[in-house]
Amino acid sequence: MTNVKEVLGVFGSGSTHWVGDGFPVRNMFPSNGIEAEINPFLMLDYAGPKDFKPSNRPRGVDEHPHRGFETVTIAYQGAIDHRDSSGNSGTIRPGDVQWMTAASGVVHEEKHGREFTEKGGTFEMIQLWVNLPKSVKMSQPQYQGILDEQIPHSDLGSGSYARVIAGELNGVKGPARTFTPVSLFDIRLKAGSVVELSLPAGHNSALFLLKGDVTVNAAHPLTGEAQIVVLGAPGEKVVLESKKDSTLLAMSGEPINEPVASYGPFVMNTQEEIMQAVADYRAGKMGRLR
Ligand code: MN
Repeated sequence: MTNVKEVLGVFGSGSTHWVGDGFPVRNMFPSNGIEAEINPFLMLDYAGPKDFKPSNRPRGVDEHPHRGFETVTIAYQGAIDHRDSSGNSGTIRPGDVQWMTAASGVVHEEKHGREFTEKGGTFEMIQLWVNLPKSVKMSQPQYQGILDEQIPHSDLGSGSYARVIAGELNGVKGPARTFTPVSLFDIRLKAGSVVELSLPAGHNSALFLLKGDVTVNAAHPLTGEAQIVVLGAPGEKVVLESKKDSTLLAMSGEPINEPVASYGPFVMNTQEEIMQAVADYRAGKMGRLR
C-alpha cells in the first residue's frame, strides 16, 4: 500500500464571491490556505452551476490583465466569449478547455457567450491558475483553444472514464502543452464503480468533486458539491469509490520551488517584479483590446 498517495486534507469552498457580474464562484484555493501543498497550482474558482435568465447584455469580466502564469478554463455548461490583446478570440463551449499562457502579459475580457446570453440557461465552469517557472514568466503569451472532440478518453471501467486534458493516463496523452509536468483529468464516475487512478509520484495532487459522492482511499468521503481533497506528492495512485454518478477534476503537477509574489492578476517571484507588472500594465505594455 506504500504506493498510495496520502490524503492530506479535505476542504469545502474557502470563500464565495462574484467575478465581474458573470461568474458566481466558490474558491477552493488559495482561500483554504493550501497553496504550499498544491503548488504549482495557484487558484481554483468553481463558477456555478447557476441559472441565468435570457438577456441582451453579456455578463462577465471586462478588460483586465494577467502576467506570470497560465489561466485554464474548463467549460461544463454555458459558454464564454473571450478575446485578448494578442489577437486571440473565441467561444469556449461545454467540453472545451482554454489554456491561456499569460506569461509576459495579456489583457483580455471574459463574457458569457452571446447565444447563451440571449437564450439563458445553466452556467458552470472552472478556472484554474497554473504557475510558470521564473525562466518563462516573461516569455511570449500563448493560447491553446482545445475543443471537446480533441480531448481523448481513458476508459476506467464500469462506464467510468477520464478525459485527459494534460499529461498522460493509462497510455492516453492529453493535447495541452505545458511548461512543467502537469496532469489534468476531467473524470466521470458511474455510481457503484471502484477505480484506481494513477497520478505521477513526486507531483502535488488534488481531486476536486464538482458533484456526486466519492470515497477516496476507502476512508475520506467527498459528498454533495465543491469538495477538494489534497494528496501528498509520494505514491502514484488513489482509489475512488463512487456511490453516485460523480464528476471530478484531478490535477497534479511537479512543484515549482521558487518564491511566489502575487498581487491580483500578477504572479511573479519578487515584489519588484509585481511593481513592474503594475507599471507595465498602466503604460499599455501588455497590449490593449481593440
Ligand atoms: Mn482573466
